[in-house]
Amino acid sequence: MMDVSTHVIQVRTQIPGPKAQAILARRDAAVVRGLSRSTPVVAQSAHGALVTDVDGNTFIDLAGGIGVLAAGHTPETVVAAIKQQAEELLHLCALVGTTESYVQLCEMLNGLMPGNFPKKTVLSNGGAEAVENAIRCARAFTGRPAIICFEGAYHGRTLLTMTLTSKYDLFKKGFGPFASDVYRLGFPYLYRRPAQMTEDEFTDWCITSFDYALVSQVDPSAVAAVIIEPVLGEGGFIPVPPRYMQHVAKRCKEHGMMLIADEIQTGFGRTGKMFAIEHYTDLGVEPDMIVTAKSLGAGMPISAVTGRADVMDAPNPGGIGGTYGGNPLTCVAAIETIKLLTAQDLPGRAVYLGGIMRERLESWRDRFELVGDVRGLGAMLAVELVTDRTTKTPAKDLTLKIIQTATQRGLIMIRAGLYSNCLRFLIPLVITDDQLHESLDVLEQVLLEISEGR
Ligand code: PMP
Repeated sequence: MMDVSTHVIQVRTQIPGPKAQAILARRDAAVVRGLSRSTPVVAQSAHGALVTDVDGNTFIDLAGGIGVLAAGHTPETVVAAIKQQAEELLHLCALVGTTESYVQLCEMLNGLMPGNFPKKTVLSNGGAEAVENAIRCARAFTGRPAIICFEGAYHGRTLLTMTLTSKYDLFKKGFGPFASDVYRLGFPYLYRRPAQMTEDEFTDWCITSFDYALVSQVDPSAVAAVIIEPVLGEGGFIPVPPRYMQHVAKRCKEHGMMLIADEIQTGFGRTGKMFAIEHYTDLGVEPDMIVTAKSLGAGMPISAVTGRADVMDAPNPGGIGGTYGGNPLTCVAAIETIKLLTAQDLPGRAVYLGGIMRERLESWRDRFELVGDVRGLGAMLAVELVTDRTTKTPAKDLTLKIIQTATQRGLIMIRAGLYSNCLRFLIPLVITDDQLHESLDVLEQVLLEISEGR
């Protein structure tokens, strides 16, 4: 427990407070219910890891706008660049003319992507659009239609990316028919492996199943790309076992299938390296393309595909684009964000913060029956909650209750996992040590109370 005098959380009202309640009532009346909200927080301002709501309550943000805020809320250099840009030029359209910031950002992303080959980048507005672009490039380059994706994946909500996305009930129900030529394979979810198998045996079985699918489901000669999240994001923060990733990459190379790393949630330092796929570089894993968004822009809507120049240049001129992609406001924000991530070594800080968190979360696994698994990479960690450790029955309702109680105590948190039973941590990497300890103290107390049925 830390010294309370340094506490930053301030909860002065019920959450939501009176002003927030009034705005939420207006939201419910004016905004579609399909756009769910995981907390009743109505924000007024935010800086670093702290969010202040319209009633003057201050929260520690452990969700970071779903992984957007590796560099924290409103970083000063990013805000200054946006302000200056706003006065100079708001929009031109990259299909019409050029701004230097667009080019500079592409150069920076080309420089950051691992792999010893020429690279090119295209910018867009959000993650789904970037995934679509990556697949457009893969199909144009290979002349093949099929895409392989995985159980538990999340790649977006456009028709193609929704098709690639798993978790039917929440994301897909009622929205079919879906896109064709998408093949979903099992994912090596080690925690939920068959009880009689070791982790290694299960990984072997998944590797065999991958090869089997290349016979039973689709021939590799028809596959344009395999798209994979190096750490499954919405699916519950499950890192791809190294041998499995190595195998997938090897098969991709053998058969000319493009390997697309979806780094939208894992990217920009969160896992302890700039991109999570770099954890697999020593095993010879080299993606052909990486897709980025979220923490790239510190909150500005920007996304990118960076990849092998020959693959990225496969679509004909005019085949790629959009009105707003690489808007100058978003480009200058991303340039400053990358500079900040590098200058402050936020990937290194993710390793450090991840160490603190992991120790604490693992102590919860020892103390609370409810905690079934603790996993992740760097500071991208999750806790999977179960009502019974043997049957591993997902504790979905309790997870929601924990999140709701944590909100009342001043934490902003979200869930993850196919069963919505994981507490996930997408902390701003600029969170101070004290703030992190404070948030973990609060959450520990909530877990204690809920475990004891209080
Ligand atoms: N891919 C991954 C791995 C994601 O986490 C997300 C968003 N949660 C997306 C794609 C889609 O991004 P967007 O919501 O910006 O379209």
